Amino acid sequence: MRYAIISDIHSNLEALEVALKEIDSLGIKEIVCLGDLVGYNANPNECIDIIRERGIRCVMGNHDARAVGLKEPLDFNPIARKAILWTRGRLTPENIDYLRNLPGRLIFGDGKALAIHGSIHNTETYILTPWDASENFGIMREDPGLPSLCFFGHTHVRLCYQEVGGRVMTLYDDEIEISADARYLINPGGVGQPRDLDPRTAFLVYDGERVVFFRRPYPIEKTRSKVVRAGLPVELADRLMVGW
Ligand code: ZN
Repeated sequence: MRYAIISDIHSNLEALEVALKEIDSLGIKEIVCLGDLVGYNANPNECIDIIRERGIRCVMGNHDARAVGLKEPLDFNPIARKAILWTRGRLTPENIDYLRNLPGRLIFGDGKALAIHGSIHNTETYILTPWDASENFGIMREDPGLPSLCFFGHTHVRLCYQEVGGRVMTLYDDEIEISADARYLINPGGVGQPRDLDPRTAFLVYDGERVVFFRRPYPIEKTRSKVVRAGLPVELADRLMVGW
């Protein structure tokens, strides 16, 4: 079975549509989403509707939790907070209910892969460095219930951490062979707000043996003007152009 892994859509309809069109053209039927459907951009309901209609399995992100009031955005910077409060006022009751009931983690791919948002024990914390990765590899090692391959989001940065014999390496290859002797923490990058200075939408494909990363251009200008017209902070519109 082949799976497409998407993450951090953040209410960016144009980016989500392009990513899904590409995934469809690859003939992939199963999609797993690593959370943060909403926040930052202007089409929260449209994005959630697509995820629900297509039956895409999804975990809860930190923005999703705040958009439905499970948490308050007090620890967010003022720009992100504004976008969360804007989103709160617009979500339909059905979509609030959907976001509220998302799980914190999913196991898929015949039990071989784990899907999370932030880090294994905490949706809120980032895996930003090899040291963060090392800590999470430790959790994977100690819990026999966890697969040795984990897909995470939250940072919006496409990369792969590989652990072999206690040593952690950061891989930036476009294709990675999954070895039975190693553990992996892999981030597909952000669909709707990439932060690795490549503004194109990001996703990956996993087939049980290999991970392949994809980037595709989408009509950023359209998303940008929607953000501005919605009265959301202009910084959120501008950062899309540079991929940060
Ligand atoms: Zn995010």
